[in-house]
Amino acid sequence: MTDKPLILWFRRDLRLGDQPMLAAAVASGRPVVPVFIQDPETEALGAAPKWRLGLAVAAFSKALEGLGLRLTLRRGAALEVLRALIAETGAGGVWWSRLYDPASVARDTGVKAALKEAGLEARSFAGHLLHEPWDVQTGQGGFYRVFTPYWKATRGMVVAAPEPAPGRVRGMEVWPDSDRLEGWRLGAAMNRGAEVVARYQAVGEDAARAKLGAFLDGPVARYAEMRDLPGVAGTSRLSENLTYGEIGIREVWHAGLRARDEGRAGAESFLRELAWREFSYHLMHHTPQITTGNWKPEWDNFPWRGESDAVERWRRGMTGEPFVDAGLREMYVTGTMHNRVRMIVGSYLTKHLLTHWKVGLAWFADCLTDWDPAANAMGWQWVAGSGPDAAPYFRVFNPAGQAEKFDADARYRRRFIAELTKQPGREALAFFDAVPRSWGIRPDQAYPRPVVDLAAGRAAALAAYGARNA
Ligand code: FAD
Repeated sequence: MTDKPLILWFRRDLRLGDQPMLAAAVASGRPVVPVFIQDPETEALGAAPKWRLGLAVAAFSKALEGLGLRLTLRRGAALEVLRALIAETGAGGVWWSRLYDPASVARDTGVKAALKEAGLEARSFAGHLLHEPWDVQTGQGGFYRVFTPYWKATRGMVVAAPEPAPGRVRGMEVWPDSDRLEGWRLGAAMNRGAEVVARYQAVGEDAARAKLGAFLDGPVARYAEMRDLPGVAGTSRLSENLTYGEIGIREVWHAGLRARDEGRAGAESFLRELAWREFSYHLMHHTPQITTGNWKPEWDNFPWRGESDAVERWRRGMTGEPFVDAGLREMYVTGTMHNRVRMIVGSYLTKHLLTHWKVGLAWFADCLTDWDPAANAMGWQWVAGSGPDAAPYFRVFNPAGQAEKFDADARYRRRFIAELTKQPGREALAFFDAVPRSWGIRPDQAYPRPVVDLAAGRAAALAAYGARNA
């Protein structure tokens, strides 16, 4: 047994409760050195998620201080930083919670091999998911490609109970030097947007837990009916917290189970949505190419378009199609977008504008504060038709019809589109404060004419699809 310090390398697990790695470290009785590294993988994040990550790191650093611990911040390639910290602290090894995206897997595999070769401990823990992707298998021993059987297989699986946050953790007598978080300028690319989007963030573990509690005390009762209505606050809004690990998924799952067992209608549907998150990770683990290329290779020859003026108007929420523009503006103002509308803006881009889903995926990765590598990739490929269990390409969402069905009173469209109301509200106007000045747009301009006629766009998409299948 050793009493050497342990470096706890935090990444997307910025919480104290439901934290298997931290619980094991406390049980070991060894002093810990919590560290967060701004490495090239973090550097590569889009503007909004990188900025939001900075808020998460700041909140987590404060939470650690409450336990008498200091979060050491360092910049550089992970292995080099960890080696330097080991030399400075005399640590016996490094522990971390597992991630599953291809870039993190490649980095972590290299770090683990190098540390082990040097005779050091390198241990990874579960914590980001309910089930490790390799623990869920079909009857034939393969992985699931379709959600419903995945859900049937995992719905009743035992999920370990979340560990409570530790009361005491042994720290170091002398802490290593740390960078200053402000010096990293994680929000640099957000420019004007940061001030606006900041109003909509609920940062840190306490805020996430409060949100979960409020959701399960109220909206969950009508979640099954309300979750599709973007004008209503009918969903948990936990994606922002789950993606940085500000709340543990096992804690959310068990809270959902309790709500279901207490008879709250909607709780079962909520658990099912959590399983969609799991499924996206299951797919990313087994088919990592889902993040970079068509999951179904037969789509490789589809005549997707790349950049165009129409795409730029889509990004700017200026397509002239109100439900689509409202969604893109919601993302610019709040950092997230309602799930129903993500599907509609995605369908519009990949079908009416015949644009490659990768263009949309990249824009979301730049703008979403809840950006998640697995959910974003699965969502885009589902919408485009190129992914597993996808909506068939010929099922083209009609944004006008969708608006009538899911935003019948136009509340959502008016909330985000200033040009459609005489007295625009705070959020509609905030869009113009958040966007780059170089876009040169103002709320008193006329709302743009549609960039594409819906019937013509649909016909062109179906013709391209027909030609591909001819
Ligand atoms: P709730 O309805 O309260 O659901 C609870 C949780 O379940 C969510 O927080 C999320 O973790 C999970 N969940 C719900 N729906 C899905 C889904 N369809 N796929 C995967 N997980 C789901 N989600 C992200 O977290 N990050 C992304 O980058 C992302 N990109 C998307 C891109 C597209 C094109 C589409 C169609 C969907 C995408 N989603 C993404 C999924 C979904 O839109 C969001 O998870 C959801 O809107 C978050 O709101 P909520 O927390 O209120 O969800």
